[in-house]
Amino acid sequence: EALAKVIDGKAVAKTVRDEITIEVSRMKESIGVVPGLAVVLVGDRKDSATYVRNKKKACESVGIKSFEVRLGEDSSEEEVLKSVLSFNDDPSVHGILVQLPLPSHMDEQNILNAVSIEKDVDGFHPLNIGRLAMRGREPLFVPCTPKGCIELLHRYNIEIKGKTAVVIGRSNIVGMPAALLLQREDATVTIIHSRTKNPEEITREADIIISAVGQPNMVRGSWIKPGAVLIDVGINPVEDLSAPRGYRLVGDICYEEACKVASAITPVPGGVGPMTIAMLLSNTLTSAKRIHNFQ
Ligand code: NDP
Repeated sequence: EALAKVIDGKAVAKTVRDEITIEVSRMKESIGVVPGLAVVLVGDRKDSATYVRNKKKACESVGIKSFEVRLGEDSSEEEVLKSVLSFNDDPSVHGILVQLPLPSHMDEQNILNAVSIEKDVDGFHPLNIGRLAMRGREPLFVPCTPKGCIELLHRYNIEIKGKTAVVIGRSNIVGMPAALLLQREDATVTIIHSRTKNPEEITREADIIISAVGQPNMVRGSWIKPGAVLIDVGINPVEDLSAPRGYRLVGDICYEEACKVASAITPVPGGVGPMTIAMLLSNTLTSAKRIHNFQ
């Protein structure tokens, strides 16, 4: 018997997109500026191409203009830097996103550092991450996936302040910034990673769990405190011969078991995934408003 409320990321993302659409047209009508997002795609990874296509589609759906540069797998780091720098200088671009991962012969750090922090809508620039980590400082942008997790908690009126939170995973793009954000919201945060000895005992203390691991169904029902709120970032393909493509996607959290213990849970798919792109659009709008001093 399922107990947990389903946190519907797809529906919240739609609400967020609708709000953005209104703001984009208000901005266009008042000052004649359309927010613009530029994507730099290097190489021919199919998954990256799909993500970029989805981001462009999402931009169109809210009236944000999208720009794209595609470079070949064997292009040089200088060429990538050149496109980033030209978007930095382009007044019709308010957000710049370098699709990761880059080909292995390139220095990701060098390239991410080149993105103007005013246009760093992914929030991956070390200055933005540094500010996120510091008390009394404000990052210009927060990374989209963790921001989407927190937005889901807010929109479902789930209190974070004073709560015990556990983040599973410590990657630069999800786990680490998710932990920093929860801490900024006054949760008491513990981070679990691959060297953690007793993950199960630690998660059992948590009122809120954000899981960003990439291991299908790792978090079992027995890991969860009754009434906990679960945000599952993991997107893991598992073989399913009855599915049209021979696989289906599951989260890091064993959904069937967790439903019986938690008070609220995000499904996979349809939870955090749609929020990530919605937050990218939101960051792009925020950037355009800030650059043009439009409230
Ligand atoms: P990474 O592989 O960069 O990081 C995974 C983290 O999980 C690492 O910190 C690793 O620890 C930790 N970890 C791995 N195995 C275990 C384990 N057995 N026990 C505890 N911790 C473990 O992944 P990402 O952060 O990029 O992504 C995580 C998941 O989220 C993936 O499934 C990805 O597909 C998904 N994702 C979803 C997005 C969305 O929009 N919904 C966006 C981005 C990612 P260590 O540091 O010690 O190696």
